Amino acid sequence: MSGLFRIILYALVAYFIYIIVKSYQSLKQSKKGRRRPSSKPSIMVKDPACNTYLPKEDALKETYKGKDYFFCSAECRDRFYETKKKKG
Ligand SMILES: [Zn+2]
Repeated sequence: MSGLFRIILYALVAYFIYIIVKSYQSLKQSKKGRRRPSSKPSIMVKDPACNTYLPKEDALKETYKGKDYFFCSAECRDRFYETKKKKG
């Protein structure tokens, strides 16, 4: 009787180990599956006319007095030059 009990106990232990390993493997797999391919990181630049941040590739680049400025639109660029002109 004690021999049979021991076999059942071993079977239970083996079963629990099996479940732990299985859940651990599925956890690893789900982590892998959740990982999304990272898109290209875009540098954010500030539009000094409307104070909006936008991706550098979408921005209108203008060089003013040796400094690079980025604008969301031509209107903002014009507005920027207007204010620079007014100030002198
Ligand atoms: Zn703007």
